[in-house]
Amino acid sequence: MSVQVVSAAAAAKVPEVELKDLSPSEAEPQLGLSTAAVGAMAPPAGGGDPEVPAPAAERPPAPGPGSGPAAALSPAAGKVPQASAMKRSDPHHQHQRHRDGGEALVSPDGSVTEAPRTVKKQIQFADQKQEFNKRPTKIGRRSLSRSISQSSTDSYSSAASYTDSSDDETSPRDKQQKNSKGSSDFCVKNIKQAEFGRREIEIAEQEMPALMALRKRAQGEKPLAGAKIVGCTHITAQTAVLMETLGALGAQCRWAACNIYSTLNEVAAALAESGFPVFAWKGESEDDFWWCIDRCVNVEGWQPNMILDDGGDLTHWIYKKYPNMFKKIKGIVEESVTGVHRLYQLSKAGKLCVPAMNVNDSVTKQKFDNLYCCRESILDGLKRTTDMMFGGKQVVVCGYGEVGKGCCAALKAMGSIVYVTEIDPICALQACMDGFRLVKLNEVIRQVDIVITCTGNKNVVTREHLDRMKNSCIVCNMGHSNTEIDVASLRTPELTWERVRSQVDHVIWPDGKRIVLLAEGRLLNLSCSTVPTFVLSITATTQALALIELYNAPEGRYKQDVYLLPKKMDEYVASLHLPTFDAHLTELTDEQAKYLGLNKNGPFKPNYYR
Ligand code: NAD
Repeated sequence: MSVQVVSAAAAAKVPEVELKDLSPSEAEPQLGLSTAAVGAMAPPAGGGDPEVPAPAAERPPAPGPGSGPAAALSPAAGKVPQASAMKRSDPHHQHQRHRDGGEALVSPDGSVTEAPRTVKKQIQFADQKQEFNKRPTKIGRRSLSRSISQSSTDSYSSAASYTDSSDDETSPRDKQQKNSKGSSDFCVKNIKQAEFGRREIEIAEQEMPALMALRKRAQGEKPLAGAKIVGCTHITAQTAVLMETLGALGAQCRWAACNIYSTLNEVAAALAESGFPVFAWKGESEDDFWWCIDRCVNVEGWQPNMILDDGGDLTHWIYKKYPNMFKKIKGIVEESVTGVHRLYQLSKAGKLCVPAMNVNDSVTKQKFDNLYCCRESILDGLKRTTDMMFGGKQVVVCGYGEVGKGCCAALKAMGSIVYVTEIDPICALQACMDGFRLVKLNEVIRQVDIVITCTGNKNVVTREHLDRMKNSCIVCNMGHSNTEIDVASLRTPELTWERVRSQVDHVIWPDGKRIVLLAEGRLLNLSCSTVPTFVLSITATTQALALIELYNAPEGRYKQDVYLLPKKMDEYVASLHLPTFDAHLTELTDEQAKYLGLNKNGPFKPNYYR
């Protein structure tokens, strides 16, 4: 059955996102483990004791599809929507924005390129590199990193490394290190930092309740027993909690970083100390980057059967170098827009040889990551870089999408006077009804103290705007890349750049006027602050459930296509986070469920709900 999402765009004869339901039988429970998780691990709707077993109706049926190691986590009774293959013919998706890489432009033939940034280039891979012998010099390392895939180089220094010794110039690849159990199957900056990393992980655990619940409740069943997961993600305390959860659920993991700047060295050390083969450190060169990925997959006596990727580099590497590995790989879970596009590209070309889960488009990722993450981190980024007071300050926020809404809400709450610019009348009307003055940037540019871009667009703040700003105006970007503010236009001889702090530049005009440019126009929060663990917990839980689902799915449930997690899974992930707030969810009565035409246990929204 094919479900076409009808929208204004569709009405206007613009192709829309097509959700294709490939379920062999709608009535047949499909998402064994997702639903399993609902049945076996979900706390009661009232936010009660997570230990209490779920109602019998939600318990797994007798072994059948989805049985085996995950038997106790197998499908809930009732009609369960399965993950649906989603086609991307929507023009919206032809101009994707993402926060962890450059803008992905999908051309009609399905190929993905980076949108023009300051330096225009296509996503590149070091396909031919398998010689990892030469150790580049520090300068060499820097220059090499220019040809690395964009998502792996975007600044992501949020996880400040407290114990990092920048004096230590020795490449981790040149060090002989062993953990306390004698294993040397890892490569991190300094294994001696493990204790600090362990503390970071323990702090993160406090804010990742769903993963901890998953760990606790599914441990007996070990739904990932036998899983050999190779991962390539940011290596932070939050990822460590995810990895250790996967380990607790029975998986063996080997991990590399998806970004050359984002690894928290002490966390990588803590993981290596507790036996995870981790190959990552902050400030890798391009050569290091691919070497680390290769060390994860090219191992004697160990072959991955699952991939968890963020950006698609790992998947690409296996495709290019070890295509035979796909014979044993049961599925790919991908988080980022870039990676998801690459998967769709492969799928379109008929080259995707295993099922893949698109976590990026899960509502629990997009809604929470964009809105709440930015609402929480915008003030942090501004404060850390400028020590400014927000009360009474005039701020203009460009773009009132999810990110803009989050920024505006945070600034308004601090007593700032907030103006909004928008191009879309619907978002503009939302801004008005939320109590913000909708203006053109030109109208307020002379008076505002802060300019924040959140559009995912380019050249929203031009040199002309920059020329007209008042002295000490702060300029920053919360959108995906450094295209929103025309930073390149400030690199002219008459302007002086003064680095006043890490990630803070004063750009000075000949008359002495200066503006404060943060993170050189890159994502402010990811460059200059931390992002909330709780939000990452939601994404990480979705990833874990996607892995469990793909790993345990009976043959034939998923084809060689890209699937979206069903709404039921989104709802389940959300429900796992509710007890943190002592939230009491209302249950539908039978009569109400009948009236609305819903199953009492969900899903409560259609798959296309965003
Ligand atoms: P969105 O599409 O919901 O919102 C963007 C808004 O900007 C839209 O309403 C659009 O109409 C408006 N817009 C476009 N061009 C404009 C212009 N010239 N002037 C004024 N408004 C304009 O997207 P979103 O979810 O809010 O994400 C925005 C950007 O932030 C994306 O690039 C996204 O990748 C990135 N992002 C950042 C973070 C972060 O942590 N900083 C998190 C998620 C997403």
